[in-house]
Amino acid sequence: MTTSPVTTLPTQALLFPELANAYTTSTYRDLAVSILVVDDEKRARQSVCDLIKPTGYRTIQAASVKEALDLLKQRPFTLALVDLNLTDGSGQEILNFVQEQELSTRLIVISGESTFSNATEALRRGACDFIRKPYLPTALLDAVSMTIEKAELQHRFEQVHEQLRGSEELHRFIVNNSPDIIYMLDEQGRFSFINNRAESLLGYNSNKLIGQHYSTIVFSDDHEKARFAFNERRTNERNSKGVELRLLNQNNSEVTFVEARAISVELTAMGVYTTNHSDSTEFIGTYGVIRDVSERKRSEALAQYHRHHDHMTGLPNRTLFNDRLQMALAQAKRSDGQLAIMFLDVDRFRLINDSIGHLAGDNLLQMITKSLKQCLREEDTLARVGGDEFLLLLPTISNGEDTTIIGQKILDLTATPLSYLGNDIRITFSIGIATYPQHGSNIEELVRHAGIAMSHVKQSGRNNYNHYRSELRQNPCQSLELENDLHQAIANDELQLYFQPQIDIQEQRIVGLEALVRWNHAEKGIMLPSLFVPIAEQTRLICDLGNWVLERACAKARYLQDRGFTGLKIAINVSMQQLNHGTFPKQVMEAIARHGLKENCIEIEITESSIMQDMHKAVEVLTELANKGINIAIDDFGTGYSSLSYLRTLPIHTLKIDRSFIQSMSTDTAGSAIVTAILAMAKGLKMNCIAEGVETDKQKDELQRAGCRIMQGYYYSQAQPLEKLIPYLQKARNW
Ligand code: C2E
Ligand code: CA
Ligand code: CA
Repeated sequence: MTTSPVTTLPTQALLFPELANAYTTSTYRDLAVSILVVDDEKRARQSVCDLIKPTGYRTIQAASVKEALDLLKQRPFTLALVDLNLTDGSGQEILNFVQEQELSTRLIVISGESTFSNATEALRRGACDFIRKPYLPTALLDAVSMTIEKAELQHRFEQVHEQLRGSEELHRFIVNNSPDIIYMLDEQGRFSFINNRAESLLGYNSNKLIGQHYSTIVFSDDHEKARFAFNERRTNERNSKGVELRLLNQNNSEVTFVEARAISVELTAMGVYTTNHSDSTEFIGTYGVIRDVSERKRSEALAQYHRHHDHMTGLPNRTLFNDRLQMALAQAKRSDGQLAIMFLDVDRFRLINDSIGHLAGDNLLQMITKSLKQCLREEDTLARVGGDEFLLLLPTISNGEDTTIIGQKILDLTATPLSYLGNDIRITFSIGIATYPQHGSNIEELVRHAGIAMSHVKQSGRNNYNHYRSELRQNPCQSLELENDLHQAIANDELQLYFQPQIDIQEQRIVGLEALVRWNHAEKGIMLPSLFVPIAEQTRLICDLGNWVLERACAKARYLQDRGFTGLKIAINVSMQQLNHGTFPKQVMEAIARHGLKENCIEIEITESSIMQDMHKAVEVLTELANKGINIAIDDFGTGYSSLSYLRTLPIHTLKIDRSFIQSMSTDTAGSAIVTAILAMAKGLKMNCIAEGVETDKQKDELQRAGCRIMQGYYYSQAQPLEKLIPYLQKARNW
């Protein structure tokens, strides 16, 4: 064993207390430092320990290689101070052990052997320092502190490294689990990074996208839009935010419809720059975030759908119809084309609705919608714009023929009754047609004119189509001329009364005459009331017209009585406006008195729909008239959309079954059922019942079988000047 001179004495530390203190104030406190002192010479060991003690580091002594190895196996040491010459072997064995076991223990060799080869061998074996005995205490303490400092630094570095690795993983986790796609593009627009969301949202393998151009994932129609957003170079607040695009959905790539192949996203992107050594910035690519907004888009689309569609039938509503018409008009104007719109109104729908119930009425409307759609072409738009009103847009027509074909198709359709819960219900339409450019150049005009044409169909018997003509115009402004003329006509006696007989089919004789006004126009010839009564209604001329009719009808009644036709009732049509005029009952009574007539030879006809306009007033005035002995008839009964309960409150003598029911009797069970029901009701309420618009033998027979006694219609006679009817009246059984 080599005995090496020991220069380090226990007292030495005490000699340099400030020195020891300097080491104890080491900042590397958090490392629990323990030092293994290996020397076979006890004094030398003790002297090292004493020297280190003031630093606060723990020292443990080992006297041999074996003792040292045993201790190293048991616990970790920060540092081992190893003498090379030991009694049971060489300190090199300890160095070897530390190296082989990859222990973190630092090694300082203290040896009396100071050959170069010893030192290099020790350093090669991983020793941090080599101190030759005898040594100065400061040399040992410096070596110890430096080594521990390095160990501490290394430890710190590892800690920081560990933390960094943790935080990078955290960021990666956050980025990869983001609900958004996060990506980086290089300056050529190729992905240099894209998170895993690309996979779950779009079905792309994120790794495979690296190096690919961004356009790979963009839906073909949106490439142009994407170019601006993806190539974003701005970083300030003007950068692309919330740009809406569609990306390709690989998950559904085989599906053909766009909604499934594309995913709507919102993209926010900004340029990324680095500052290089010369302090100028350099564009290195684009950073972007892509958010899936397909859910929001879907609910927006749904809301949009509801804003533009009728819930019950699923048809476009008026808003969407107007949009489409607007577009079609623009297109027609550009290409010098033509288009048409049709105004369809389901005849007497309200009555059907009331009699079969609203739920069934809704179902019926859905059935109507379905069958109407069969008549249409792909590009046509059918919209529901009111309870039983539809608008149809034919965006391209070549001539008037097209509209006639479609109009006829719809009418043909109505020939087959709809079967609903075992009932056959025949649905008919009144259809008004207006075309661009002939009948208007804007939405408002076209729709209005189609509506006017439709009303005209309603007035002249329903279940038909009609093209708009300027004579049908109802606009007060446009009909100003007609209004002035009508004014004159009343004053100049250009109006004329025609009469249509009402036949009691049991007695086969005329029991009444309905007075129907005509206008003997200087230029236009005999005009039917449908052309001027609506204008008179609009302009309040109806009261003057009504007074004229009342006066003339009473005069004719007098004329008939004077010739012995005493049992005849004269029916006079009146408008609700006349009833609203406070003096109406007085006027009637005065006219009757003036011509010396009996009250019961006059029957006032008022339509059910006009009564509905002001039920309260109608009850008041009609009751007053009835109390004075005047007969009251409800005209166009069944079309007024009323609930029938009002019949009890009104003093009614006669119900006139509307012509449309008579027409539909033979084709549709609902029509027959309605007629039968009205007849039964009239009988129950002890009212007269007149079937209007009887045109055929078949209708007459059927009505007769149903118990109808009084009939009126072309089958018997059209309305005619009274003189032409006199010869018939003169016969006892005149029919
Ligand atoms: P309304 O009171 O329902 O008169 C019946 C209409 O049906 C008359 O048309 C008549 O000519 C027509 N008609 C009669 N039988 C048949 C038939 O078998 N087949 C067909 N297709 N039609 C038939 P008109 O004379 O054109 O009168 C139309 C409407 O004008 C009347 O309907 C009435 O609402 C109104 N009106 C007529 N005269 C007056 C009047 O003096 N005052 C008022 N306020 N309105 C009147
Ligand atoms: Ca009438
Ligand atoms: Ca009528």
